[in-house]
Amino acid sequence: MDTQSEKKDMMAVFFKRSRDNGLKITPQRSAIYKELLKAKDHPTADDIYKRIVKKIPNISFDTVNRTLLTFAKIGITNVVEGYGQPKRYDPDIETHHHFRCIQCNSIIDFTSREYDSIAVPDEISKQFTVINKKVVLEGLCSRCGKE
Ligand SMILES: [Zn+2]
Ligand SMILES: [Zn+2]
Repeated sequence: MDTQSEKKDMMAVFFKRSRDNGLKITPQRSAIYKELLKAKDHPTADDIYKRIVKKIPNISFDTVNRTLLTFAKIGITNVVEGYGQPKRYDPDIETHHHFRCIQCNSIIDFTSREYDSIAVPDEISKQFTVINKKVVLEGLCSRCGKE
């Protein structure tokens, strides 16, 4: 997700999904999405608001919050699996996994071919429709582990 061209692709996905879902592409929405794409820290709505208000001083927290929820609804961002409030957002909709630090709450992305190909247990696939598979490891991040 770091290269310029991949970012451009994600903007294309953003435009397409917005159009498909009848969501008007406003300068504010585009700006919020761009800010989210840049984020590697699975930010909260408040984090995004604080970053974006420097560029668009008249934007409200409510607009940012509602827009992020809408993005999640149309599938261009994921809400990170619940560890209580506030919600945290993940612009990376490709399969990847998370390491979560139980002390500072940072969520670090990682990829693993092995984890990607984990089979869904029968008892789950019989009952539910699985859309997303993600392995979450918990522990202490390198910073917290040192203390
Ligand atoms: Zn930590
Ligand atoms: Zn992630």
